[in-house]
Amino acid sequence: MSKSGEAPYVSGRSDTWTKAKCRAGHEAVIGGWATTEGKFRSLLVGVNRGSHFVYIGRVGTGYGASKVATLLPRLKKHAAKTSPFTGATAPRRAAGVTWLDPVLVAEIEFAGWTGDGMVRQAAFKGLREDKPAAEVETDLPASPEAVEPAKPVAASPRRKGGRVDVLGVSLSHPDKALWPDAEDGKPVSKLDLANYFAAVGEWMMSHIKGRPCSLLRTPDGISGETFFQRHAGLGTSNLFELVHVFGDKKPYLQIDRIEALVAAAQIGGIELHPWNCQPDDPEVPGRLVFDLDPGPGVEFNDVVAAANAMRERLDALGLNSFCKTTGGKGLHVVTPLKAAKRGKLDWPTAKDFARQVCAEMAADEPSRYVVNMAKRLRNGRIFLDYLRNDRMSTAVALLSPRARPGAHVSMPVQWTQVKKGLDPARYTVRTVPALLARSKAWDGYCEAEVPLADAIKRLR
Ligand code: ATP
Ligand code: MN
Repeated sequence: MSKSGEAPYVSGRSDTWTKAKCRAGHEAVIGGWATTEGKFRSLLVGVNRGSHFVYIGRVGTGYGASKVATLLPRLKKHAAKTSPFTGATAPRRAAGVTWLDPVLVAEIEFAGWTGDGMVRQAAFKGLREDKPAAEVETDLPASPEAVEPAKPVAASPRRKGGRVDVLGVSLSHPDKALWPDAEDGKPVSKLDLANYFAAVGEWMMSHIKGRPCSLLRTPDGISGETFFQRHAGLGTSNLFELVHVFGDKKPYLQIDRIEALVAAAQIGGIELHPWNCQPDDPEVPGRLVFDLDPGPGVEFNDVVAAANAMRERLDALGLNSFCKTTGGKGLHVVTPLKAAKRGKLDWPTAKDFARQVCAEMAADEPSRYVVNMAKRLRNGRIFLDYLRNDRMSTAVALLSPRARPGAHVSMPVQWTQVKKGLDPARYTVRTVPALLARSKAWDGYCEAEVPLADAIKRLR
């Protein structure tokens, strides 16, 4: 949405507000076609995702006789012996299907996505002659009406089988309660979670995009079975990105688009835990996370004091830092790092830096802080956990909800809020979208990036 700068914020349609689609292109690459009893039926289409050519389903309508007459000879010219589709979701060989080299681009229209990331009700519009297939990437928006956030359950017209769409992604069992309540006595449903992700997804994306990201899933709600999923598996929605990292054959999950957050909600993916690397560069640290964990008997105001003390320490080393609640018991202090132009920073160096900062803080005030895991259980102290700062370590994502009672989320706060009385329980799946719209917290995060090398010199 864009609004004329001087115009007031009023609801309803007017000339001062315009709505524009922010992602261009309704294009897909043709990877096959299907016939039944010799008659043309549908196109099998895909998009490029990294090194994969990912199947996104069949385009089954839009074929007038004359369109087919011009289309078929073009298809036949590119017929191939083997399927061009790759990855776990590639379609199997089937009777009546002819594979194609993936060079032709089709313009399509479709109503939305299935939870698995297949197009729904896709219609063929024509061939795009001007667009090279290699440029057709993933961000196919569904038709604009499908992109409206879903209305509250009661008012929402149901599709067949009780499904509801959010951002064009189809949700099954939208009323299933994932949390008993969000400190307001009302259950938080799968649809509520999907709408939450749709509302805050834009903010989340810049902190998770391009990094492997694990999901904490609670398909039957937070009191049911919980599992931590790092890898893509059979049946993983192809709205997720798959990423290969050094030393592991199986691809990791990655979330690069808001629709994938809705796909996460669909499978009960409540918590997101990204790596802390630079985007698209798993081997290079992109931020430091200092996890302040209060031991038994520590008041939250003492955690607040610890966050401020950590900030001062980092500040003295020339590093900028930002604070977020965790949705749990402690606070995270996060330092954005700039990728060095020469001499890449590595994980052991970053971790060692974080360890040293924490160790000095604990040495200066041993009655308040500990860095030793074994001493962690000591009553009345705060464990300064620097271990988030390793290649495969994760920390809960900014704005991720927690699979704990109350549906609290990891909320970005301004340093002026990090003072006595800060109450992390205020921030829930229900309250955060409105609070965030008015918040300036973490503004300037990207501009605040500093290369770690200078800070390392100062520490010495
Ligand atoms: P709190 O403020 O309550 O300490 P937190 O997010 O800092 O919240 P934990 O829930 O103790 O703390 O998790 C610590 C880190 O370990 C998380 O940031 C997360 O990325 C990672 N983690 C959590 N659950 C798992 C798991 N099941 N397997 C592996 N890593 C996990
Ligand atoms: Mn913690």
